Amino acid sequence: MSYLFDHLDSVKGLISQSPFGLITDVDGTISETAPTPQEARVNPLCRHYLLELCSHLPLVAAISGRSVAQVRDMVGIDGMVYVGNHGLEIWAEGKSELAEGAADYPGVIAAVIAGLSRRLPMEGLWIEDKRLTASVHYRLHPAPEQAKEAILAALRQLPQARRLRIILERKAIDILPPAASKGTAVADLMKRYRLRAGLYLGDDFTDVDAFRAVRTAARGWGFRGFAIGVISQEMPENFIAEADFTLNGVSDVAHFLEWLSQTVAPPA
Ligand SMILES: [Mg+2]
Repeated sequence: MSYLFDHLDSVKGLISQSPFGLITDVDGTISETAPTPQEARVNPLCRHYLLELCSHLPLVAAISGRSVAQVRDMVGIDGMVYVGNHGLEIWAEGKSELAEGAADYPGVIAAVIAGLSRRLPMEGLWIEDKRLTASVHYRLHPAPEQAKEAILAALRQLPQARRLRIILERKAIDILPPAASKGTAVADLMKRYRLRAGLYLGDDFTDVDAFRAVRTAARGWGFRGFAIGVISQEMPENFIAEADFTLNGVSDVAHFLEWLSQTVAPPA
């Protein structure tokens, strides 16, 4: 494992390539995991340095499985670009857009949510309806592993669910249209902002798609970037093998953002 703070010179090399952009996951990366998604808050230091970075970089983006409206509310920085629902919704320069094909799915998602609600005892479970996607949270269930198996079994019984992609997150199961991923969203952002270099920070399974997009871009058109894996106690297996460098938790991300903002724009 390569700790990012031991390789800051490599990051300086990237920063010198302009345009340089920063894309970060939200939950578990700039915000500590909370018992329910509604209780999670962005770390104040992370917010402070992201705001600083917005004045100096062409792109500072937050990407999340949450709806784009929720991500915007949660991070609350005007100059940032927000990507929600695993890349299906983007909020940039004052307007929101849907990814191609996303509009076909709200009916399918609604049918799956209704089917799950009928089949599952809802004690300790919470289905988050994000219109274009849904997440079934089981963090508060007394037997999380059993809950996970019950949710997966219920999904197998629903014909509409076959049209969707199922992703196992930490204590949640995401249900989303097949083409959507943080990887496609990150590739779109890199192209849209014509980035020559950049960093991606994330802490969970769905971020691996984005890590791979960073590597694919490096092979494809000479983009230079690093995928930074944020280590937590609940880190999925094999996750770190996909990252170029690591940081230890949200507080370490805050320290890194501080270093980055001071390196991008040294104090006078
Ligand atoms: Mg996360």
